[in-house]
Amino acid sequence: MAYEEVNLDDMKWDLELEAFTYECPCGDLFQITMDELEDGEEIANCPSCSLIVLVEYGDEELMRAKVRSLTGEGGPDDSMPPAGAKAIAT
Ligand SMILES: [Zn+2]
Repeated sequence: MAYEEVNLDDMKWDLELEAFTYECPCGDLFQITMDELEDGEEIANCPSCSLIVLVEYGDEELMRAKVRSLTGEGGPDDSMPPAGAKAIAT
């Protein structure tokens, strides 16, 4: 049974894992890779527990996801500055 349904746009691209991630209640991250998405996979697994999330996406989300995975952009909720970046006062 799926824990939640998540839109691909709401998932965060993780550069280290090279996967789209979503917070799991156990403290780890649900993960699904770009390869899996392109294969039509829609279940993201958590490596630390048995929960899964259903990932909802269509052609548009898949395209945006691909751009994000290529550019390394974390997505709309990514408030963390890149490693080594300095805060710049505007
Ligand atoms: Zn978990």
